[in-house]
Amino acid sequence: MRPTGDQERPPLAAVAAGGAATALPITVRRLSKAYGAVSVLDEIDLDVRPGEFLTLLGPSGSGKTTLLMAIAGFLRPDQGSIRFGEREVVRLAPHKREIGMVFQNYALFPHMDVARNVGFPLRLRRVAAAEIARRVEAALETVQLGGFGSRRIDQLSGGQRQRVALARAIVFEPRIILMDEPLSALDKQLRERMQIELRQLHERLGTTTVYVTHDQREALTMSDRIAVLNRGRIARIDTPRAIYDEPGSRFVAEFIGESSFIRAEVADGVCRAAGSVIRARLLPVARGQCTMVLRPERLHLLAAGEGEGMNCFDARVTGAIYQGDTLLVQAALGDGSPVALRLATRGGAAAAPPIGAAARIGVAVEDTVLLADDDGEAR
Ligand code: ADP
Ligand code: MG
Repeated sequence: MRPTGDQERPPLAAVAAGGAATALPITVRRLSKAYGAVSVLDEIDLDVRPGEFLTLLGPSGSGKTTLLMAIAGFLRPDQGSIRFGEREVVRLAPHKREIGMVFQNYALFPHMDVARNVGFPLRLRRVAAAEIARRVEAALETVQLGGFGSRRIDQLSGGQRQRVALARAIVFEPRIILMDEPLSALDKQLRERMQIELRQLHERLGTTTVYVTHDQREALTMSDRIAVLNRGRIARIDTPRAIYDEPGSRFVAEFIGESSFIRAEVADGVCRAAGSVIRARLLPVARGQCTMVLRPERLHLLAAGEGEGMNCFDARVTGAIYQGDTLLVQAALGDGSPVALRLATRGGAAAAPPIGAAARIGVAVEDTVLLADDDGEAR
């Protein structure tokens, strides 16, 4: 397939360069893709800022990979626009988009050594051999694999292979890097170390990065901003802190972090839930039903006399599980609503309260989130 209309234009790098290595913004407008009657991307609008680390987060099947593949050029959308800087790329072939890509399964060539794998994009671009050798070694240094050039792929650990894939993605100095669940094949410890490494690498390179994961903690750890996808739409896009503290919809609150949801009712400007008057930063409705969201680590088990200025609930303890870093306490509020609390275990604190005991639970006003009941959609 021959892309049309781009033959006489300068390459992207030259467009973007303006002298220094300028990161490119990505502008997606009304991007749609359907398979038969099933809409997989539904008029997506997305602005990725230059140099930003933006994560597409969502459950399996929400359209993350499809959106990333459309940005990379491996998938032709049914409609919509994708611009890198000023340039429309939606009809441009993938290799002309000058993107660095990292996939979940590394997609390395097993029969080539590390250096030949990393140098592959440069050979494609007919770069001179001496220059290839220099840039391959520099890319390997960047991912902390200096001197590994002559190793065979099958002599490397999972984490090292993923770094080779990363070196291959950055060796031609792309302005945009796209990654689709690049760490999901690694075990937990290595994955958490690589999250920090990838984030640091992003800061050194200054590229615009779009990262796909279904792991909310990974998204919170790595991202400048997170776009939460739900059924081919962006339910929410914001910073990790804003999304966690003000999820804005039940879908986002359920998907990111743990939550207890409790019926609440607003009448005459006063909100009540589980038999208590509730104060929150904002009331989502003028009157009628809404939902209170309580995060387990924001709740306190109150001793007698504590709880001044907080929202307080009478409760009964229904269970307690020691989890090392925290004690997970389950309780039922006065109206029977189940809630979970995470209590710090340090310094001998947080002995498990006896099951069946009466308890008082407190939550600070600024940690009390109320949601309108138009479930699932963005604010
Ligand atoms: P995610 O990466 O968020 O898990 P995908 O983008 O891979 O989701 O897929 C989104 C939806 O599109 C899924 O329901 C998937 O089954 C469907 N889908 C993806 N590719 C195809 C295809 N080639 N043909 C039909 N349906 C597809
Ligand atoms: Mg996917």
